[in-house]
Amino acid sequence: MNVWLLVLGLVAGATLGATAYWWWQWHRIRKVGPEVLPADVPHVVDLLRRAHQAVAACLVIPDSSPVISLGHPRPPETLIDRAVATANLALADSREHVLREGNVIVAVGDGQLGSAVVLAFGDVPPGNVRAVASDLRRLLAELRVSRLREFGALSDPRAIPDWIAAGAESLEAVAFALCEAIRAQTGRATAVVVRDLAQPQYQIIGVSHTADRRLLGTTVTPDCAVGRACTGDIPVVGTSSTELFGHSRPERRRRAERGIAFPLRDGGESVGALVVFGPHETLKPAVRERILWMAVDAGPRLAMAAQVRVAETQAMTDELTRLPNRRALDRALGAWKEGPGALLCIDIDLFKQVNDAFGHAAGDAALKHIARIFRRALRDDDVAARIGGEEFAIWLPHTPLAQAVEVAERLRLAVESSVLSWGGADLKMTCSLGVSAVPESVTRVENLLPTADSALYQAKLKGRNRVEAARPPGSPEHHSSP
Ligand code: GH3
Ligand code: MG
Ligand code: MG
Repeated sequence: MNVWLLVLGLVAGATLGATAYWWWQWHRIRKVGPEVLPADVPHVVDLLRRAHQAVAACLVIPDSSPVISLGHPRPPETLIDRAVATANLALADSREHVLREGNVIVAVGDGQLGSAVVLAFGDVPPGNVRAVASDLRRLLAELRVSRLREFGALSDPRAIPDWIAAGAESLEAVAFALCEAIRAQTGRATAVVVRDLAQPQYQIIGVSHTADRRLLGTTVTPDCAVGRACTGDIPVVGTSSTELFGHSRPERRRRAERGIAFPLRDGGESVGALVVFGPHETLKPAVRERILWMAVDAGPRLAMAAQVRVAETQAMTDELTRLPNRRALDRALGAWKEGPGALLCIDIDLFKQVNDAFGHAAGDAALKHIARIFRRALRDDDVAARIGGEEFAIWLPHTPLAQAVEVAERLRLAVESSVLSWGGADLKMTCSLGVSAVPESVTRVENLLPTADSALYQAKLKGRNRVEAARPPGSPEHHSSP
């Protein structure tokens, strides 16, 4: 009898616990819905208005009231209404809108997230309109990324709420969707070229499934047909692969190609080009017209996705070394589904002495130097991140423990044998490494970092400049070096 009571109690307790947890989660998710804005958004909207000497600026987010900043004297109500309406229009069609009628209204939309408007009196030069539009776009991109970060979504994609995810397609996804849409219209292979915001160059970022995938990642020279379509505003025909893409494509990759490149623009700004392969003469005028319309529609979407990419990359990059940061590492580990993988935790030995002896600037240069060594020594799929002051972690997917220990040993030697010249002096460093692997050391990816860190601690205890591997409790020996 007592046993049954106990079982009943346990079941009731577990049910209550699960319900409470579910309730709490549900409320947590609801609480961070669209109606709650980050505290500094009104401030940023206000700064935006003042920076551009506008009479009003507003930000519209679905399901919540617009954030409006007004200057002095207060603009007429009809003007504010019109600004909010234009912002909503941009929100609905994800386009850029510029209205010039005494006042200038500039609005930019970003799919599901929001849109913004700035008004200014008088005649505003086109250059200023571009600057305003570009600031608005950046604001929206930053807002989206900060929302993603708030939800922990940068490390856990499952946590992204629908209303953010709906507009958050990656640049590649938007490009591929466009390629496929045009392929469906024309029956031709297609490619999308987009301006890389980080470097001033154009790169092929999407191809239809019928096109040569080796085109992906290729840069395009400005003087070829595609390059001219990117910077101009009329379609340009190329009758050979060289004419189409210029000389940037390696010989072995070239294939007999010809096609027509349609400019992709966002308002007055160049975004890239859409390439439709095949003879241009046989493209029917009606089809050509449709392609032009689809290009007009896709330009602003691609521009927004590119801007989101820049903001997201910044959020995931360590500023000093340009390596991925802790957040990026968490994301890589979080995305790992199954299979073996190893994590190295690395800490520079006695790094404080470098700072003390040579100064903080030397310390910074030393960190960049170490980052370079790691970058050079690793495969493309490995993720080397700076996770703290002089602490790094390296994720080696598909790597068993024994092999990861070898990599760690290689890195230890590379650091030990390298010299950094600083102000006429030779600066030498060593580092200690801890290695942990799934499944040899731990069964779950989440436990890699703490166990690799404990192994690193062991390496420090045993005298530094060495590699220690984490093994499950009770296993006979730890690897150590030298
Ligand atoms: P240990 O071998 O035990 O790791 O000794 P350590 O001196 O490296 O350890 P500790 O953690 O005490 O010191 C780390 C030092 O790294 C402290 C700080 O001065 C330096 N540091 C952390 N971040 C930076 C940075 O961004 N730039 C520079 N120049 N130094 C940094
Ligand atoms: Mg340290
Ligand atoms: Mg240290």
